[in-house]
Amino acid sequence: MMPVSATADTHCPYCALQCAMTLTPSPGDDAPVSVSGREFPTNRGGLCKKGWTSADLLARGDRITTPLVRQPDGSFAEAAWSEVLDRIAREVTRIGRKSGADAVGVFGGGGLTNEKAYQLGKFARIALGTSRIDYNGRFCMSSAAAAANRAFGLDRGLPFPLADLDTADAVLVMGSNMGDTMPPFVQHLQGARARGGLIVVDPRRSTTARLTADGAGTHVQPAPGTDMALLLGVCHVVIADELYDRDYVDARTTGFDAVRRSVSPWWPERTEQVTGVPARIVRDIAHRLAGARSAYVLTGRGVEQHSDGTDTATAAINLALLLGLVGREGSGYGTLTGQGNGQGGREHGQKSDQLPGYRKITDPAARAHVARVWGVDPESIPGPGIPAVQLLASCGAEGGVRALLVHGSNVVVSAPDVSQVRAALGRLDLLVVSDFFLSETAQLADIVLPVLQWAEEEGTMTNLEGRVIRRRKAIDPPPGARSELWILRELAARLDAPGAWSLDPAEVFDELARASAGGLSDYSGLSHELLDTGLAAHWPYPQGSSGTPRVFLDRFAHDDGRARFVSVRPRRPETPHGSELSLVTGRILEHYQSGTQTRRVAELNEPNPRLVAQMHPVTARDRAIDDGSRIRLTNHRGAVEADVQLSPDIRPDTVFLPFHYAGSESANLLTSAATDPHSAMPEFKNAVVTVEAVA
Ligand code: SF4
Repeated sequence: MMPVSATADTHCPYCALQCAMTLTPSPGDDAPVSVSGREFPTNRGGLCKKGWTSADLLARGDRITTPLVRQPDGSFAEAAWSEVLDRIAREVTRIGRKSGADAVGVFGGGGLTNEKAYQLGKFARIALGTSRIDYNGRFCMSSAAAAANRAFGLDRGLPFPLADLDTADAVLVMGSNMGDTMPPFVQHLQGARARGGLIVVDPRRSTTARLTADGAGTHVQPAPGTDMALLLGVCHVVIADELYDRDYVDARTTGFDAVRRSVSPWWPERTEQVTGVPARIVRDIAHRLAGARSAYVLTGRGVEQHSDGTDTATAAINLALLLGLVGREGSGYGTLTGQGNGQGGREHGQKSDQLPGYRKITDPAARAHVARVWGVDPESIPGPGIPAVQLLASCGAEGGVRALLVHGSNVVVSAPDVSQVRAALGRLDLLVVSDFFLSETAQLADIVLPVLQWAEEEGTMTNLEGRVIRRRKAIDPPPGARSELWILRELAARLDAPGAWSLDPAEVFDELARASAGGLSDYSGLSHELLDTGLAAHWPYPQGSSGTPRVFLDRFAHDDGRARFVSVRPRRPETPHGSELSLVTGRILEHYQSGTQTRRVAELNEPNPRLVAQMHPVTARDRAIDDGSRIRLTNHRGAVEADVQLSPDIRPDTVFLPFHYAGSESANLLTSAATDPHSAMPEFKNAVVTVEAVA
């Protein structure tokens, strides 16, 4: 594991803020490189503790460096690459011949580089010939994406540079706790805080909600599942009090009348009855946003991970459109992408319904364009597949997937209702997992393929503001590990696949750029070489352009150039009865996603080595539960045991669990696999549980 250069300017391996960092060789230390924050518009030199400790994983002794094959006694044995690749090719060919190409599935990840995400989508369609590909971003960004596509015709998480937030007078944050999930983000809220204009909507008094203290803003704690009602109430006030931007609405939108009618029943007092938010606060939010010279509405998974998440995000967009915020410099609507390449990961063909460039797989012109780049007949590209929850449920089922290749995802921790997912994976004929640690999903595999970590490879990522950035190699990988580009090329060759399968990420990027040309997320003006100059590369970035830091300034992406108001109505959430509580899941400062990486970093794991539930003291007293004791949370899907931390920061009708833990501590044993009809996003944030002390 040798450093390959003096220093490498790169970005954090974890979340979508993609903080800039420099890796410097540190021979003799525990890690082969040391990490320092680097000046960049998003993080301005700051890193959170996940970023500071990210290099620790490069020297872990439990790294997988040889392919592993399941033995008849259930153990793993090391195997040669040629042997496992031959076997995978043989098995998927046999299964495809017997049960059809769709009997082989691919499950990708929002942490893969753009190059790997692109190559994985291509591999599924033209090497395996399967439509059955989707990825874990379906659990994360799909409702916000569906809402943005419906309203604007284009989905870029933040359609403006993050630094634009600095000068805001008012920022409404709904369902995001960036104070814990991406702490360097918080500096961009200082302007709004200084002017008393930070409004945080969260059932918990989270780290972000506490930023509203001392006159910096307002924390609003609606009842679980009532975010949309709150937004409709605020929209009602904006229209009733004639706070909306009539000229903007007339010139740049369609559908206003239907939305006006749909919010008319949501007067503030009725909104208060449903949400628990005082009518006075509902009015204040509307007037604060409307009176701001510069205002933003931001949403996160807290309001999106519901079976009506697309409609809730749509209600937030309707509010932003009423106020004339979208497509204007100094104001806007955005959604906060979570996974490192959650944005790029959904643009290049990993989604079951998409081709590279954010193209629809059902569009004949899109299919023809991508087929030309791939060197195949458009007819040979399969049609749309099925989204992630259905894809996993189909594993081993009659007519479903019989072999699954998993890349960059730990689904037996991160998927909803994980006991069902575990059972489904157990019914497969073949489960192949590519990872650098033996994740909980890899532990179930028939074959595990060791791949590279972030500092061992070149590539690109696309951050939460749609900015394409370079990931750089700082050290050589362990001898036995291989890049996914190599694995896909080797398998493609064994499957006699058409097309080019370069090992060079720069060449794969060039092909991706050609495939994206003319699409919504057009990267055709970009290359690794150009990105290496450090230019700000916000897509769309067509050839000959200088990119698009702010989209929608002139027009929206629908054919008529206008944004769409879409009227939405709240659905009744699953509500607690009797002594039941609403379960809210989320992230904590120390951990990232399924915890495969961060649970291996001592400095991150030591503060929270076990699952800790947060509960209100009054709720605990009623159940004879003491602070720090052990509790059991149960519903019809499963049961979870956790230590309990009592705090007045959470509503008495709600209990919070972080979702980073595995096995019997997995919060997703309790969550629902019901999905949003528009986005296929599971409703992680709407479960009901009973809670009792463990004797
Ligand atoms: Fe930055 Fe996110 Fe990495 Fe923390 S985890 S250093 S916020 S990119």
